[in-house]
Amino acid sequence: MVIALINARVLTPDEEIPRATVILEEGRIAAVGEGLPLPAGAQIMDLDGLTLAPGFIDIHVHGGGGFSLMTEDGDEIRSYARWVVGKGVTAFLPTLAAAGRPQMERWLATAASVDERLSDGASPLGVYLEGPFVNPKRKASFPPEGLRPPDVSELLAHVGAARGRLKLIALAPELAGARKLIAAARDQGLVVSIGHSDATYEEALEGISLGVTHATHCFNAMRPFHHRDPGCLGAILASPQVAAELIADGVHVHPGAMALLLRAKGHQRTILVTDGVAPAGLSPGTYSLAGRQIKVTSGRAILADGTLAGSVSTMDQMVRNLVRLGLATLQQALRMASLNPAAALGLEGGKGRIAPGFDADLVALDDGLEVAMTFVGGELAFCLPKGPAA
Ligand SMILES: [Zn+2]
Repeated sequence: MVIALINARVLTPDEEIPRATVILEEGRIAAVGEGLPLPAGAQIMDLDGLTLAPGFIDIHVHGGGGFSLMTEDGDEIRSYARWVVGKGVTAFLPTLAAAGRPQMERWLATAASVDERLSDGASPLGVYLEGPFVNPKRKASFPPEGLRPPDVSELLAHVGAARGRLKLIALAPELAGARKLIAAARDQGLVVSIGHSDATYEEALEGISLGVTHATHCFNAMRPFHHRDPGCLGAILASPQVAAELIADGVHVHPGAMALLLRAKGHQRTILVTDGVAPAGLSPGTYSLAGRQIKVTSGRAILADGTLAGSVSTMDQMVRNLVRLGLATLQQALRMASLNPAAALGLEGGKGRIAPGFDADLVALDDGLEVAMTFVGGELAFCLPKGPAA
């Protein structure tokens, strides 16, 4: 089916087209521009008053809407995928927190078994391993049994279990054996991230020279910055080749620190991630996550000891936060939620832009930057009841 979206303000995100027509055909964007002829037989949808942007891509997420992506039930991942389109997300990278090896293997096998192309939900893009090769000093909410020294044979076992779908791994480059692990991960085509790390500036720079190109939730669970001991944070901020994840929920990182990150990385190398956990998007209360109790209160998810346990924010909320805090224009915030995460996974040739040939993954926002419509693979996957008539 061919769909013609008309009268939308399009942010590609690099360019603004005030009243555009976007033609969707066979899951892809066929054309975008002002005053395009409408193909015969196309279904026409009037998006007057809405801003159309590339669909959000959340590359660091553990769950939301009551669904965990750390699960042994593939249907739970599919249910999450159908829920999250309501938040403007069209693709996501299921992320596994550190866990005991048998548990991790079962989660990994489940996450890897869910097909990328779902008929009515966001696309799972593979798997992100956030552990186990991280520093116990910076474990944050990870359980102690989930932390292990770098072990190439364990990594290769996970790569095999994921059948080509493992995309990204976070590790602490200062741990003994990390050099070999980084090399092995690069050999397997994985994006290597510094995360949950207590690395000094020098240790982090060494990791970067070996192929670390990504930083897991910048500022959180990493050695902090000091002017005589700039730590891994200093190395990340000073290294243009490293792209940085940011949890812009207003809880994990102070707006001043967000501003610093954006100054150092620019809007091209900062990636919005939710780090969302299963209760994200639900009401305050007490929930169980991977066998542990999590309390959700005033926008925070905390363990019994008060440690932050991931966020309860959503991608659309973080885009609104950046704009309202004056930290980014809408165009810049949208780029950090779509093109930049696509680029982190090497998908920038097909996702993250409204341009001919790109996947027809789109989000339409209303004046308040609330999600009005979401398209995945050229099909309407979400529409606010009060949204414009189709
Ligand atoms: Zn996480």
